[in-house]
Amino acid sequence: MSRKPIIAGNWKMNLTLKEAVTFVEEVKDKIPAKAKVDTVIGSPALFLASLVNARKGSELELSAQNAYWEDTGAFTGENSPEAIADLGVEYIIIGHSERRDYFHETDEEINRKAKAILANGLTPIICCGESLEIFEAGKTAEWVERQITAALKDVTAEQVGNLVIAYEPIWAIGTGKSATAEIADNTCKVIRTTIEKLYGKDVAEKIRIQYGGSVKPENIVEYMDKENVDGALVGGASLKAASFLALLDFVK
Ligand code: 13P
Repeated sequence: MSRKPIIAGNWKMNLTLKEAVTFVEEVKDKIPAKAKVDTVIGSPALFLASLVNARKGSELELSAQNAYWEDTGAFTGENSPEAIADLGVEYIIIGHSERRDYFHETDEEINRKAKAILANGLTPIICCGESLEIFEAGKTAEWVERQITAALKDVTAEQVGNLVIAYEPIWAIGTGKSATAEIADNTCKVIRTTIEKLYGKDVAEKIRIQYGGSVKPENIVEYMDKENVDGALVGGASLKAASFLALLDFVK
């Protein structure tokens, strides 16, 4: 597989500024070379400016966990993708199931966010994934195909080749009940085939697709061994420096 792995922690709404900076100081000199793996921390937006400073001189990259689709304006409480880009952050996670479920984000909004993030030169990590009900009904493939097609509306082939998609089955998030590596690989393949249908084989071979849902140091290698899984998006196991670094042990 020629695609470079991408391992991203998603801290969600955890840690204080002090804890976040301490974490980055602890890991910053132990991150493997960027030539081998992209290593990312998805931090609350509150901490990003400090973390950009804290990670200086390191291979660690940074991500926001959400952004609005306008760069400026009267949108109280939202974070501007332009301002996030200006900080020197590299990625923005969008369409996480927690945002879709708890904050009622729609496919159309996620598509607007994807385009705004790309317009600001950042890389979106676009999440998709099905509920247990959909999984048990055998409808995962059509569900993620629809989510991805909607998220990428009017996004160009050149842009799509460089972005990241994360497959996160909702029933595996924070439950300790991870999807098997086979299930992860199969659904990541469905996503790759969807990209191929929309953008052709070259783009489909280039795009990186992560698995997320109860990934930890003990099981990450099973996923990384799979052909269609190019990385992991990790919640709980990314919150402690030692555990986060252990996720990277598979990189030789
Ligand atoms: P967990 O790794 O805690 O299951 O969370 C996965 C996730 O939602 C990452 O975005």
